[in-house]
Amino acid sequence: MTALARFRRSEERQYTTWDRARLSVVVPIGVIVVVAIACIVVTALSSARRADADAVAHERQMFAQAVKAYGERVLRELDSVGSSDAAQRNIRTRFDQDWVGQNVGLWLATFFNHNAVVVFDGNDGPVYSLVDRQPATAAWLETAKAVLLPLVDSMRGQDTGFSDVLRRDSAGPGGEDSQARAAVIRKVVGRPAVIAAVAVGPVARLRPTDKAGAPIIVTVKYIDGDVLSGIAGRLQLKNLRQIGQGPVPTEDSVYALATPSGAPIAAFAWTPRQPGAEIVASVVPYVAVAFSGFALLAAFVLRYMRRTAAAIAAGESRLRHLAMHDPLCGLPNRIFFSERLEAAIEEVRAGSRRAVLFYIDLDHFKDVNDTLGHPTGDELIRNVTLRLTHTLRGNDLVARLGGDEFAVISSIGDDPDKTMSMAQRIIAAIAAPYAINGQNIVIGASIGIAVIDKTCGGTADIMRYADMALYRAKNEGRNRACIYDAAMDADLSKRKLLEGDLRDAIENDGLQIHYQPIVNKNGEATVGVEALCRWTHPVRGEIGPTEFIAAAEQSGLIIELGAWVLRRACLDGKAWPDLTVAVNVSPLQFRRTDFVDMVERTLKETQFDPARLEIEITESVLLGNVDTAEAAMRRLKALGVTLALDDFGTGYSSLLYLRSYPFDKLKIDRSFVRSIEKAADAAAIVHAVISLGRGLGMKVTAEGVETADQQLFLRAAGVHFMQGYRFGKAMTAGEITARLDAPDQRQPVDAPQALAS
Ligand code: C2E
Ligand code: MG
Ligand code: MG
Repeated sequence: MTALARFRRSEERQYTTWDRARLSVVVPIGVIVVVAIACIVVTALSSARRADADAVAHERQMFAQAVKAYGERVLRELDSVGSSDAAQRNIRTRFDQDWVGQNVGLWLATFFNHNAVVVFDGNDGPVYSLVDRQPATAAWLETAKAVLLPLVDSMRGQDTGFSDVLRRDSAGPGGEDSQARAAVIRKVVGRPAVIAAVAVGPVARLRPTDKAGAPIIVTVKYIDGDVLSGIAGRLQLKNLRQIGQGPVPTEDSVYALATPSGAPIAAFAWTPRQPGAEIVASVVPYVAVAFSGFALLAAFVLRYMRRTAAAIAAGESRLRHLAMHDPLCGLPNRIFFSERLEAAIEEVRAGSRRAVLFYIDLDHFKDVNDTLGHPTGDELIRNVTLRLTHTLRGNDLVARLGGDEFAVISSIGDDPDKTMSMAQRIIAAIAAPYAINGQNIVIGASIGIAVIDKTCGGTADIMRYADMALYRAKNEGRNRACIYDAAMDADLSKRKLLEGDLRDAIENDGLQIHYQPIVNKNGEATVGVEALCRWTHPVRGEIGPTEFIAAAEQSGLIIELGAWVLRRACLDGKAWPDLTVAVNVSPLQFRRTDFVDMVERTLKETQFDPARLEIEITESVLLGNVDTAEAAMRRLKALGVTLALDDFGTGYSSLLYLRSYPFDKLKIDRSFVRSIEKAADAAAIVHAVISLGRGLGMKVTAEGVETADQQLFLRAAGVHFMQGYRFGKAMTAGEITARLDAPDQRQPVDAPQALAS
């Protein structure tokens, strides 16, 4: 999978995570709101149903009351006639047929629309009857008596099961179990009707056993359409009607009238009012508004969350990109690289083709940065990035690990030839000159190569292998590539061992200092010495300073070593009051902020004359933080210490340095001196450098003078001092003392002899 694909996948992961987060917020809220709305709906529906049921019960009750009231009215109408004194006179005292016909029958039929009137005498015999304003037929009377007489009997105190009598007025003293008036609803000749009865005259003598039983007027008034529409109008019952056997719409209310014994009288039906529907109708708009409000809110929240999530995801991916890439050149950084390396190792373990790690270190990048400035250094890095990406295949990963270190992971397999030719291509690409900000810049590259195969360890191991190979490449002269092999591990352990031994030597006075004489231009008088550190390893014997100084610089031991050399040289130098003592200082040492303090302290402690101490530094000290270097130099000069620029000609040899920094002395590197006799241009350069030094008011020392010819040339060219095997190799302090004691016995010698001694 490509790096891009990985990022996409991780971004998708971000999205789904956000989607999940969004759902986890929205779903519960949605569920709560939906449940709340459902509760409201259910509550509305159930209260609607209850309201409907209540309404039905109420209407039935009202209807029953209306029927009862109707019955009572009929009774009152009858009572207005039957209980009068006139009635008593004309019915009870003396039965007057005409009077009854006029004042009872027709009166009730005409003014109150009673359908039938029957007057029973004291012995329950019908003495008068009127049906629909006509005398009742015998048949009608026969049928009607079956319903009318039981009421009459009940009034006379015989229990005939009239528990549903609408009104029952006690007959008063002496007639406690008889009634003066009663009304009931019954079916009369097949139709529902109110039957009302009133006793005429005192009621105490109502018993049929009594000779003079009270006559009873009975009237029938049908509950017909008019009555029903009256009730319907009053009670506002829709579609109130009497029903027969046929089917009734299920939504209609039915009210059935029956006798106490259960015999049906009539059934009525009407369309009930439905207040529930009104409730529902009144609630629905609010619920709809609430629901759409919620839907709107949910949509708004979702949209807001989606946008926020997208913004956060974009921000995160931007942050992740920033966190995983180098801001200067845009290449993946060390973190990203480590992830990819880990993935590459896993892929190879899982059976993919072997991969190769190229660990690239730019040679002299630091110098460019220091001399030409950081903007140029940055531009150079961008140029190197471009060249690297153009040199490599699309699926190779190029990363910048920091500073001047790059790395490439490529799946080219493990063919050493192919690997080396790829490394050479990289080196060639990097080493081609750059034109930046009007400067022509040349740098190099060293590459350490480690093969990623099934047996290799983790990322740390692979990096260590590549690092060792890189170390080897640099050691072998830079601008080259080395493939890691197991022997390098041994080298590394050797180096580590050496560092350990060096630490011991520093701590236990295992180092020595030899002093190389520095003579005047004639080579006759020794004017100074240069302290050169020596280390005789207990097992390996003599180890050259180039090797152990480099090891000390790499391990940081150079600080203690340098301090030790300075102290020792000051102590030894006290024995030679006329000589200057030159001490080499490593850039690492010089750049430390406490360096000058250390020098001052050492001078004080050893009571060495600062004017006789000469600090030798190389140009590399001046690279980088030039202001700090210059400040340190000025402070040293203020102490009275002299400063010499060592190995002039091997580094940048910038004339600017000579002019800007307070050097007292210039030491021409021995590589020039060596070439004087062979190369004309070397001689010319030496000439020029000497004149330059002199022109700037500096003393000039020539290093590595080995032959009489060199000496003659240099003296003629104008050097002030000389140093080299011709005048003496580095020797012990005792030998220097002896040499000073017997100056005449010493003759300059040509190098071969010097080397031989
Ligand atoms: P350098 O400071 O340039 O020291 C001069 C080197 O040239 C010495 O090498 C010396 O032995 C050698 N030399 C002198 N005359 C001749 C000659 O006529 N012919 C040849 N072929 N060589 C000559 P050495 O002692 O091996 O030191 C090498 C370098 O190690 C020194 O170069 C110096 O940079 C460094 N070094 C030595 N001691 C110290 C020390 O105590 N501290 C630091 N920082 N560096 C040291
Ligand atoms: Mg030196
Ligand atoms: Mg030197």
